[in-house]
Amino acid sequence: MEFCKTYLLKVQEQNLYRKPVIYRFLDAVHVELEGKSYLSLSTNNYLGLTHSSAIQQAAIDAISQYGTGSGGARLTTGSHPLYQKLEQGLAAFKKTEAAVVFNTGYMANVGVISALSGKGDVIFSDALNHASIIDGCCLSKAHRVVYRHGDMDDLAEKLKDTPCSGRRLIVTDGVFSMDGDIAPLDDIVALGETYEAMIMVDDAHAVGVLGHGGCGTVDHFGLQERVDIQMGTLSKSLASEGGYVAGSQALIAYLMNKARSFIFSTALSPATVGAAHGALMELQNHPELVETVLQNAQYVREALTFAGIPVEGNMTPILPIMVGEAALAVKMVELLKEEGLLVSAIRPPTVPHGSSRLRLTISAAHDRKELAQAVESIIAVSRRVKLI
Ligand SMILES: *Cc1c(COP(=O)(O)O)cnc(C)c1O
Repeated sequence: MEFCKTYLLKVQEQNLYRKPVIYRFLDAVHVELEGKSYLSLSTNNYLGLTHSSAIQQAAIDAISQYGTGSGGARLTTGSHPLYQKLEQGLAAFKKTEAAVVFNTGYMANVGVISALSGKGDVIFSDALNHASIIDGCCLSKAHRVVYRHGDMDDLAEKLKDTPCSGRRLIVTDGVFSMDGDIAPLDDIVALGETYEAMIMVDDAHAVGVLGHGGCGTVDHFGLQERVDIQMGTLSKSLASEGGYVAGSQALIAYLMNKARSFIFSTALSPATVGAAHGALMELQNHPELVETVLQNAQYVREALTFAGIPVEGNMTPILPIMVGEAALAVKMVELLKEEGLLVSAIRPPTVPHGSSRLRLTISAAHDRKELAQAVESIIAVSRRVKLI
């Protein structure tokens, strides 16, 4: 087992060593760590719903009614009644005929992509797509063609030049998780129609953020009925856990019969499904949360940009501060921690070498005064390390 130690020494030397830290959430955005309280600027809990008492109660009720575990896979004995409520709710929210829930967003992507594409097919994938999409492509045995991030000329050229005897699939994140920018889905759909390709969008970071009532990228661009596969997660804005796909009846029934990550894994627990359904209801009852998170993000973005800090992304609550070297990103995270702020350093292999960054994520649960203080601290630290 020496290779494990050799590998670990190598990643340590490159400042890329990682380990999980135990966080105790006090509420949606405050965390206790080693006895001290911090403001988190690194949670995907965009609407702050994890600590809503209504949603917590939905999870408790689910346990009381149906127990703690599902006891089986969806197609055997694990489909408790809350699944039906959640899947119907998701289909209505996404304005599609049907929806199916997977155990995680990761499992949705690997299951869906490998179910839709195989030998002889071609998948066109944005260079910055999430790792679970990349893994789904590997699992599918289809030919994968990577187009430059958001580059429609490159995608058009590759669609034109790549021979394909089977099906074509174009897959993209709706909001890119590490960059916070929005895919040009309108142009992607137009190209997909020209080249008869299926279109799949991963809305993990778009739900609760883009479109009317936060229903996602397809609505943001007004592309209803023109995107075949809308994938998303229940683990970010929806404050629970699980992944889903929304689309036609035929697609959903096909996935239930074909996607191995759906078929061969035990169903989610009632509490998890109950919480997700509760969060979906809460989002639909409080569409103003979507406004709040976007306004909070805009406030931080403008304040940092005004101070000369290089913030990427647009119109989303993901604000990457480009730093470059992994070592500098790690140093800034440490200095910000001394200021009471939790920010994550995003380093390779999550992002390409030389593009390490601090990734701020803003929530509707953030208080403006605390955000103003956080901005001051980020500016001070950026000066100290001569980023600005
Ligand atoms: C988080 C994420 C996933 C995976 O979802 P999980 O529910 O966390 O497994 C997939 N795609 C994107 C773009 C993500 O950000």
